[in-house]
Amino acid sequence: MCRLDHAGVGTIQSDTMLGINYFTTHGNLEVAGCHEMRVLIADEVDAECPAKLRAAGFEVHEKFDITPQELRETIGLYDVLVVRSRTKVTRDVVESAKNLKMIGRVGVGLDTIDVKAAEAAGIKVVNTPEMSTVAVAELVMGMMLGLVRKIPQADASMKNGLWEKKRFHGSELSGKVLGVVGFGRIGRAVAERSRAFGMSILVYDVVVDEAALSRVGGVRVPALEELLSRSDIVTVHVPLLPETKRMFNDAAFSSMKHGSFFINASRGEVVDTAALLRALKSGRLAGAALDVFEHEPPSTPEERELILMPNVIATPHIGAQTGEAQSLGAVLIAENIINAFKTL
Ligand code: NAD
Repeated sequence: MCRLDHAGVGTIQSDTMLGINYFTTHGNLEVAGCHEMRVLIADEVDAECPAKLRAAGFEVHEKFDITPQELRETIGLYDVLVVRSRTKVTRDVVESAKNLKMIGRVGVGLDTIDVKAAEAAGIKVVNTPEMSTVAVAELVMGMMLGLVRKIPQADASMKNGLWEKKRFHGSELSGKVLGVVGFGRIGRAVAERSRAFGMSILVYDVVVDEAALSRVGGVRVPALEELLSRSDIVTVHVPLLPETKRMFNDAAFSSMKHGSFFINASRGEVVDTAALLRALKSGRLAGAALDVFEHEPPSTPEERELILMPNVIATPHIGAQTGEAQSLGAVLIAENIINAFKTL
């Protein structure tokens, strides 16, 4: 059995002749592993991840453009696989991974990994759900401001050589009601920031963190319909689950206030695209901002029509795309891998 005690606190030294690692903590020498741990980083990850892993004694190979076939052919050589979104860890990959002990995903969801196959093969899966909380929350704040002040449209108009001051009459966030659906990490971070803008917060969640709710002066509502009918802006932060799939359908949109705004930076499948399009066309919604889509990249006629609507702000799933989030993710995944080896 491989053990890596107190990793990150001391120093790992290798004896390549014997093929073992020694871990030194406060002058004591411990056998850290039965052979040198090999890590394959298969997607582009911030340099802090390989640096931390190497400092902890892992042998790290970076192959950012590895193909699925090359991955299947070489994965047998590795103890740890690190991926982001590009590399899909399918059942085939897991079955070829004869020595794999751990898969680390720099990201929030695990939808690109066949977790069942990995667990059945005794492979631990770790990820970094905290990395993008601030990045997504700030994107949502930008979307809110962009929607109520029509910033993208005003910019496009200026670029066309126009000066349409009257057309870009907007509204203010201050004094408005924000409905937060899903009061987890990101929902709470959005609520905290919105509070600073003078908004009132309504929350709908299956489990509500009461301390966090009182920090933002929020009010919990027992039913989604109530939140929808009382909010000026609705922002969605639930995970994709069977219960949340197409949670935003015709019935949900018809419960929303006339002239309200809708924001989705969670997962595309939480929204019925055709229903959202109908709600925008009927004027029920004054606008929507979307970072995620049922198909990514969007490919259906409804998705294309939605993106082209003048009152829709669309971004290509950039919620976690900040230098800070990627750097945090790289550090966290390395730490999670090192810590997880302690319990292997
Ligand atoms: P989280 O797990 O911290 O919070 C999710 C919350 O949703 C929890 O409080 C949970 O109780 C609640 N919830 C679950 N089922 C619900 C239901 N049926 N009704 C109401 N509430 C329900 O997750 P998070 O880190 O805040 O992430 C939220 C979403 O954002 C996820 O879908 C995640 O995939 C997505 N995300 C998107 C990006 C991006 O790039 N746009 C980046 C990170 C995360």
